[in-house]
Amino acid sequence: TPPDCYVVIGNPIAHSKSPTIHARFATETAQDIDYQHLLAPLGGFEVAVQTFIKQGGKGANVTVPFKLLAYALATSLTARAQAAGAVNTLAFNNGEILGDNTDGVGLVADIVSNANVTIAGKRILLLGAGGAARGALLPLLQAKPFQLVLANRTVSKAQELAQQFAQKFPDEQHIVACGFEDIHDQFDLIINATSASLQAEVPPIAHTAFGAQTFAYDMMYGQQSTVFMQFASAHGASVRDGLGMLVEQAAESFFLWRAVRPQTSGVYAALRAQLST
Ligand code: NDP
Repeated sequence: TPPDCYVVIGNPIAHSKSPTIHARFATETAQDIDYQHLLAPLGGFEVAVQTFIKQGGKGANVTVPFKLLAYALATSLTARAQAAGAVNTLAFNNGEILGDNTDGVGLVADIVSNANVTIAGKRILLLGAGGAARGALLPLLQAKPFQLVLANRTVSKAQELAQQFAQKFPDEQHIVACGFEDIHDQFDLIINATSASLQAEVPPIAHTAFGAQTFAYDMMYGQQSTVFMQFASAHGASVRDGLGMLVEQAAESFFLWRAVRPQTSGVYAALRAQLST
């Protein structure tokens, strides 16, 4: 029998490391799969997915700019995809298109399991209110922090997001929404889910938010260190970039598709080594 086929769909897509990561997971878990890049035209996401399904495709990762369209296309959604309002993983099964979001759970796995940082009982500051921040909210709250403060450049977006979340998940702890200028107190964990690092900018929060007890996480990856990480470590914090999140979200997708959990440390070390060359 031919291998089950998977793709990562985006535009642009050639840079994506997902095929490398999944190929390595497959070898290590002895799963016979084929995983390729799929470039979809900007107006052609749905057609690309439906064509891939007709060809027998079993699943897809979805990246920029299609995560909201993937959410709309899914015929069923996991709770964390509903919470995120965005989908990064699709699974195709007898006409069903299941949408999941593994970004947030990948972030939490990287923080808790790889960096050995506790979330339970801690004060967390999440910067940003875009797709990455939305995906992180439910998994972060499920790790039972003492408090979660959501700060965004456009404050109304943080407020809307906090409100939507409270409506969808009335049983979860509430999120405090604010602007960057409202941040002064020190936090245990500060997660940068803005794309400011891409423009070599740091969200303008007071340096007093960082201290020796602070763990600062930048979701961005692909550089040795980001300006956010440099700012945080200059004020005493421990820092980590988003490479581990990338690998962990992939492992969660792989698990959803194959029901086998791959080891992530080997792939992570290989990608890290590539960055430093
Ligand atoms: P979006 O475009 O959806 O959201 C961007 C967010 O960044 C908004 O909150 C925006 O604020 C804020 N922002 C943009 N520029 C600035 C700036 N100069 N100063 C302050 N805030 C700014 O992006 P995503 O949420 O999809 O992605 C965010 C980051 O997370 C990216 O760097 C991406 O690479 C990374 N990421 C990493 C993943 C991983 O696996 N490691 C997975 C997913 C994302 P406003 O609302 O005011 O416009």
